[in-house]
Amino acid sequence: MTTMRDFSTGHEWLSINTATVRRQWRLDRIVDECAKRGIRAISPWRDQVAAVGLQALARQLRATGTVLSGYCRGGFFPAVDAAGLRTALDDNLRALDEACTLKAPCLVLVVGSLPGALEGKPAHRDLARVRTEVRDGIAATLEHARRMKMPLAIEPLHPMQAAERACINTLEQALDVCDELDPSQSGALGVAVDLYHVWWDPKLAQQIARARRERLLAFHVCDWLTPTRDLLNDRGMMGDGVIEIRRARGWMEAAGFAGFSEVEIFSEHWWGRPGDEVLDTCIARHRSVV
Ligand code: ZN
Repeated sequence: MTTMRDFSTGHEWLSINTATVRRQWRLDRIVDECAKRGIRAISPWRDQVAAVGLQALARQLRATGTVLSGYCRGGFFPAVDAAGLRTALDDNLRALDEACTLKAPCLVLVVGSLPGALEGKPAHRDLARVRTEVRDGIAATLEHARRMKMPLAIEPLHPMQAAERACINTLEQALDVCDELDPSQSGALGVAVDLYHVWWDPKLAQQIARARRERLLAFHVCDWLTPTRDLLNDRGMMGDGVIEIRRARGWMEAAGFAGFSEVEIFSEHWWGRPGDEVLDTCIARHRSVV
């Protein structure tokens, strides 16, 4: 039994997913505000990166000594026709390129599901078909990812997102794909464990142990509020909900994970607070409850 890292006296293992303060600040400001507080890692989103410029961000990361805990995101593989599948793959290859430029440890994949469902107009209802397209899309992306030495992290999403955002909904399902496409556990393919999505899973501890270090590429934390008022944008600050975050971190670390704990909070409440308060609260809760 390994001893868990002690987060109570510092926050060197805290990372901020930049969506957490996306409404308050542009990405360049977020990087500076994190650096000012001794937060040494972030996980940015592609649209935020595009807004400040990829090369400019790369320079700013170097200048501030900031590293990435992941890059958000690739995925959304399914499409209605062959041209759409090709477009999706091309977009993933661009995401891989960007991740390499920013020296990300992994590209996070939100795999997608029924085409058009996100816009309220699902083109069909064939979940088996999109699962196949997702598998094939990951396989095709993985060829390039291996060459570029950029690991892919499949993020299972809560089943409430199964129609719109991801047809991979449990850690077990994600790891089955990993085992099929990367049987040697090379490190090129793994999972992002986001507690918001998987905290309820009766097999969570078992599947984290199954994943082992080679597959555990990212760890995202926030909390599950009761009641939850919005399926996407009502995530809670760590400690304000029902997720046993420290217990889950214990399972991660027992399996060999020793990376960042990335705070990822999409929340109308926290987007409405001053950015300083959000980051300071993230630091305090990282120490007290993560
Ligand atoms: Zn996440």
